[in-house]
Amino acid sequence: MTQRTDVLVIGGGQSGLAAGYHLRRLGIEHVILDAQAGAGGAWQHTWDSLRLFSPAAYSSLPGRFMPAQEGEVYPDAAHVVAYLADYEKRYALPVQRGVRVSAVHRDGDHLRVETDSGDWRARAVVSATGTWTRPFLPAAPGRREFQGRRLHTVQYGSPAEFAGQRVIVVGGGNSGAQIAADLAHAGTDLTWVTQRPPRYLPDDIDGRALFDAATARRKALDAGSTDTGGVASLGDIVAVPPVRAARDAGLLPAKPMFTRLTPSGAEWADGTFTEADAVIWCTGFRPALAHFASMRLRGTDGHIATVGTRAADEPRLHLLGYGDWTGPASATLIGVGRPARDAAREIADLLGR
Ligand code: FAD
Repeated sequence: MTQRTDVLVIGGGQSGLAAGYHLRRLGIEHVILDAQAGAGGAWQHTWDSLRLFSPAAYSSLPGRFMPAQEGEVYPDAAHVVAYLADYEKRYALPVQRGVRVSAVHRDGDHLRVETDSGDWRARAVVSATGTWTRPFLPAAPGRREFQGRRLHTVQYGSPAEFAGQRVIVVGGGNSGAQIAADLAHAGTDLTWVTQRPPRYLPDDIDGRALFDAATARRKALDAGSTDTGGVASLGDIVAVPPVRAARDAGLLPAKPMFTRLTPSGAEWADGTFTEADAVIWCTGFRPALAHFASMRLRGTDGHIATVGTRAADEPRLHLLGYGDWTGPASATLIGVGRPARDAAREIADLLGR
C-alpha cells in the first residue's frame, strides 16, 4: 500500500531534524524517514575522541541551544547524539526509523519514494542523507596492493586498535589532523601524509569563525562582489585542543604524499620507504544521492544543481546538509538552520500555504 504525506524528508540526522522543525512551525504535514535504528545521524559512528570544533552554544539547531557538556568546552559526539535525540522528542518530530529510501521517481504531480518498507507519495521531498555513508578514497597507485589494514575515517575508532603498529594517516583536513593527533598522543608509530603542508587556522579561531566566513562568502557572491574564498581562505585545520597539543609537542610532522603504496608500506619520490601495518584514509566524503539516480539530476561533479536549497531542475525537491552548495555552512549544526527555514518557506509556497 502506498502511503501519502505532503512532504517527505529523507534522513533523520541534524539536517532532517532542522527541516522538520521549520516544516512543523509552518504547519506543514511531513514525515521523516531514517535508515538507522537510533537518533543522531552520523554522530553515532564517529571515533571515540572526536570533539566538535565549536563550543556547544555555537553548535545549536534552530529553536534550542545545545547545552554545555560538563567539563568540556568542545562537546563529544555522544553529547551531540543526546542533544539530537532530545531535540527530536521535544518538537515531537515525526521520525520513522529503520526505513531506507532506495529511489525517488517523478510521478505526475507527486514524487514517488520507494523504501524497503513500502512506497510513499509526496508533494515535495527534502533530501538530508548526509555524506557519512559515502566515504571517498582517492585512486592512489598501489592502493589495492597494500597488504596491511586499509581503513577510511568512518572505520576508525580509537588508537587502542593500533597498539604496537606502524600507521600511515592520509589527509590534511580536520579528520586527518584529529586522527593523527589521537594516534600520536597514544604513542603510535605514526606517519602523517598530506597533499600540501598542513594549514592550521589561527589558534583562537574555531567553528564560530568558519560559520561567519561561509556566510560572508555567500553574501559576497550573492551581491556580485569578489569571492572572499570563504572557509578555505582561513586554513584547513581547526586547532582543537588535542591537535594543538600534539602539534606544539612536535608530534605532528607531516610528510608530502607518497608516490605509491607497496604490499608492505609506502614509497616517496625521494626514494624513502616506510613500512606500515595500516593506512587510514582521511580523504573525505561524497553526498549520498544514489536514490535520485533515475531522475538524472546529478551533474559531473556528483552534486545536484541547486538554487538555494531547491534542485534547479525539480522544484519539488530540496537538498539540505551535504556542503556549502546547499547553503553556507549547511553541513554544520549551526549552519543548517537557515537553509532549512528557506526550504520550508519555499515548500509552503509550492503547496499554496
Ligand atoms: P548525517 O548526520 O549523516 O545524517 C543523515 C541521516 O540520513 C543518517 O541518519 C542516515 O542513516 C540517513 N540516510 C542516509 N541515506 C538514507 C536513505 N537512503 N534512506 C533513509 N535514510 C538515509 N559539524 C559541526 O557543526 N561541528 C563539528 O565539529 C563537526 N565535526 C565533524 C567531524 C567529522 C569527522 C565529520 C565527518 C563532520 C563534522 N561536521 C561537523 C559536519 C556535520 O555536522 C556532520 O557531518 C553531520 O553529521 C551532518 O548531518 P546531516 O544530518 O546532514 O547528515
